[in-house]
Amino acid sequence: MITAQYIIKSLFSAIGYQTGLFHLIQKGFYAEKAVVLMYHRVLSSLDDEKVFVQPGMYVTENTFRQHMEVLKANFRILPLSELVFRLRNGREIGGCCAITFDDGWLDNYLYAYPILKEFQVPATIFLASSLIGSNKLFWPEELSYYLKQSDFRIKAGNGKIVIRLLKQLPEPKTEDQFLDQSIMQVKKWPLSERQELLDCLRVVFQRSTDHHRMLINWKEAQTMLKSGMVDFGAHTANHVILDQVSAGVAQQEIQKSRDEIGHHLGIDVELFSYPNGNFSPDLKQMVRKNRFKGAVTTQAAWVSKDTDLFAIPRIGIHEDVSFSKQRFFSRLILKRF
Ligand SMILES: [Zn+2]
Repeated sequence: MITAQYIIKSLFSAIGYQTGLFHLIQKGFYAEKAVVLMYHRVLSSLDDEKVFVQPGMYVTENTFRQHMEVLKANFRILPLSELVFRLRNGREIGGCCAITFDDGWLDNYLYAYPILKEFQVPATIFLASSLIGSNKLFWPEELSYYLKQSDFRIKAGNGKIVIRLLKQLPEPKTEDQFLDQSIMQVKKWPLSERQELLDCLRVVFQRSTDHHRMLINWKEAQTMLKSGMVDFGAHTANHVILDQVSAGVAQQEIQKSRDEIGHHLGIDVELFSYPNGNFSPDLKQMVRKNRFKGAVTTQAAWVSKDTDLFAIPRIGIHEDVSFSKQRFFSRLILKRF
């Protein structure tokens, strides 16, 4: 939708980019700073998707290619492990950029990996290890899969927990808005209620696994690893939001993801990404004790020499804020633009 804000942002970023002003700012600004980018999915086309893709979750293949062009021209791109090494050893990090993907989506292999190879750009993918190679869905995708059924209200509309959800939603204008609002709302629910809702929908729709596999498998991970362009970090075993479970479960999830990835890929896993970005001082300590060397969050900030290695911030990149080179570059120097 074209709004006044959209026009202002587009104009501002076009002027800043075309006049070279942004490049000047970037040179000064990044003299001693680095940036870690957070991607999730890279899609060839939204139309092919059977589940709803939240706007904050994807960029298109073309957009991703443009990003690589901008990054190659303006940053020193290095693997996140190398950036962490530099931080640990007090080495210089000015103008460095590390690219990361969370979850382990199949589209990373299908669409991002060829572009990474073409541009010879390294990236780190954080895997929810027990879901790798399976047909399982993350709960937002599973929920949207049911909500997208044309007979959703007829079949499920009388369920107590479904009525509770529908009552909590503001009047949606479009189907996409309905799906997005539902996911955002359910994210706020306690784990047990979210579970109750999904259990109810699974029964109503007799959940089958007829949807295609959405995450990479270990063979694809091995192929990417062998290319030398991609390395892997841990993102728990089952994508558990760590501050919503007991310390025992958190420890199990962290350790299991490290072990599973190590076992399947034959690597010593050094990096961790907190699911949903949720962490605490205790969780940082736990990750450290599991022999990780660094962990990334979803806090939007740049990396400096004082950055906490177990709370490395990242700038989230998705289509809405980065569909042109100008907008992408603005995001890199203005963080939330
Ligand atoms: Zn995730």
